[in-house]
Amino acid sequence: MTTLFVSHPACLLHDTGYGHPERADRLRAIDDALAAPAFKALKREQAPRAELTAIERLHPQAYVEMIRASIPARDHKMLDMDTVVSPGSWEAALRATGASIHAVDQIMAGKADNAFCAVRPPGHHAEPSRAMGFCLFNSIAIAALHARAAHGAKRVAVIDFDVHHGNGTQAAFWSDRDLFYGSTHQMPLFPGTGALDETGVGNIFNAPLKPGDDGDDFRAAYENRILPALDAFAPDFLLVSAGFDAHVRDPLANLRLVEADFAWITGKLVEAAAKHCGGKLVSTLEGGYDLEALANSTAVHVETLMGAAS
Ligand SMILES: [Zn+2]
Repeated sequence: MTTLFVSHPACLLHDTGYGHPERADRLRAIDDALAAPAFKALKREQAPRAELTAIERLHPQAYVEMIRASIPARDHKMLDMDTVVSPGSWEAALRATGASIHAVDQIMAGKADNAFCAVRPPGHHAEPSRAMGFCLFNSIAIAALHARAAHGAKRVAVIDFDVHHGNGTQAAFWSDRDLFYGSTHQMPLFPGTGALDETGVGNIFNAPLKPGDDGDDFRAAYENRILPALDAFAPDFLLVSAGFDAHVRDPLANLRLVEADFAWITGKLVEAAAKHCGGKLVSTLEGGYDLEALANSTAVHVETLMGAAS
């Protein structure tokens, strides 16, 4: 058994324009890091396109069609202040969402233990009817709904350690007791949601961190709030919104995590998955904008997943 690595070259063709932090070089940096001999055992697969029926479990058809219609024939189009589409964005978005769905399918079929999806655009800010924060389709939420609809999963959890709150995932899960969302994030920071008292129907667990907080604060938030709640929820599939922008080097936020903190949380999530759901875990890339920090943090994240799978 093994760790699956899912990506697709089309994800490089989502062009956000000069100077945009969410850029194709992020995936190139990850590819370079994972070319090291330590990653030889990864099972590498290309992401299929997500079926529109899978996307439309979360996003209304009118929204999906609006995104498709917004794709320009050339150059860029701004969907909001920082969410950009280019001619390659539709295909990239389908592959990015298709990656998580494919990873769920492969794990449910017993062909891998766990998986990491290196894709873009990211997804956790996309609300059912609103693109925002560099995100078009909310891949992780769509994967959760897919695990239920296609594989009969009853209780699906998403843990989100991106430095930004996953407002889209929270909105998608808000009133569904069989879906769990747990997030650490810096507050105040974009998108402004993620307060402690945003609890849905008792299924949302936010643990906001202050600017300047470090790995000790991050670990305490998981130990004291999110991991006990996850344990009580007892998921039968665990999904991870893996953003690496809480790293001290990241230009978009002010937390002070280092690689060892990402290895730590990955180990904890692997442990929770082993305890509750036979290790079934799919992690997908969200943010992370300093290329060196992103590459190194992704490497320790994937290494820890591989350690669990071997
Ligand atoms: Zn982020």
